[in-house]
Amino acid sequence: MGPNRVIPTAIYGVFWPITRHMWGSLPANCVSPTNIGDMARRPVSHPGVKCQFCGSAEMRKYGRNLSGTQKYQCRKCGRKTTPNSKSIAHSPQIRQSALRLVAEGMSQRKAARILQVSGQSVGRWVKKYVDSLPAQPPKPATSEVTELDELHTFVRSKKTNVI
Ligand SMILES: [Zn+2]
Repeated sequence: MGPNRVIPTAIYGVFWPITRHMWGSLPANCVSPTNIGDMARRPVSHPGVKCQFCGSAEMRKYGRNLSGTQKYQCRKCGRKTTPNSKSIAHSPQIRQSALRLVAEGMSQRKAARILQVSGQSVGRWVKKYVDSLPAQPPKPATSEVTELDELHTFVRSKKTNVI
């Protein structure tokens, strides 16, 4: 317990009123209460995490993205980086299922709920699918009409033959 003992910032911050009372003044190697807030937010180094914009290694954790990957914020430029971010795209199967459900008449919101995706995603897929469709619906195949005509003629001729 020499005079150069470093008091951890967090502990010092919490016990500041007591220590001030006990010691009367701040020890030389301790931060002043005015920048305790700053010190508490001091970046701990995250190995391998660097700002992709300015290259600074002073990063702090900044929540997680939808896929659960840790996000970081640069302490220098304030921009956010998500290293090793996993794709948050939904599988083609999920997308296909959503389109099928909506095509069967289910509401987009209900389809989203069943597939546990966001309604926005389903809306986007449906729009994309609709946009991919040709502007004009394909004309009914004429061959089918001809076949029906032929069938009709055939049945009629048979009838007349019977009579
Ligand atoms: Zn930066």
